[in-house]
Amino acid sequence: MAAAERGGGTVIHVDVMDGHFVPNITLGPPVVKSLRKATKLPLDCHLMIENPDEYIPAFAQAGANWVSVHYEACRHLHRTLTHIADHGMKPGVVLNPATRVNLIVDILPMVHHVLIMSVNPGFGGQQFIEFSLDKIRHLVDLRHELGLAFKIEVDGGVAHDTVERVVQAGAELLVAGNAVFGAGRPEEDARALLAAARKAAGS
Ligand code: ZN
Repeated sequence: MAAAERGGGTVIHVDVMDGHFVPNITLGPPVVKSLRKATKLPLDCHLMIENPDEYIPAFAQAGANWVSVHYEACRHLHRTLTHIADHGMKPGVVLNPATRVNLIVDILPMVHHVLIMSVNPGFGGQQFIEFSLDKIRHLVDLRHELGLAFKIEVDGGVAHDTVERVVQAGAELLVAGNAVFGAGRPEEDARALLAAARKAAGS
């Protein structure tokens, strides 16, 4: 984590999986609490879990700053987003590849970020799904039309071969797992990926 920060990383994205909503199991609030002690960067907790409402207080207590929940996992999404904000965290909503952007138009004013899954959630190292780019562009248009300021985040398959298109489509928060940590040189690889992203953004 420190090496990724030295390489220019500005947010720590934490993938929480429960073995129900997604087939894999990763970590929960105790690990977030440990991460909290090790960095001052915002902890962006992406909950790939069922019944996220039950765990929101525990993530708040562990020191999470941003919490995003899946549209597909929330029966009462408006309530869940309110619950996250009431616990002092920035609420985000996540869309699986098969979920249309139009479904979340009404709750966009409530969110700090929208996370577009560019792979099916559950495992690292998957191939980028191309139509995610259209979803990013759609969100950019909606944000403009509605006069909102939410951030657009992309998770899954963001790497050297995709970063340029992702940034040009309008994403401003790039989640990178394998592209940064896969080769055992997180500092160098974070720096190189960010340089490519900045070049694509023209800044
Ligand atoms: Zn994630």
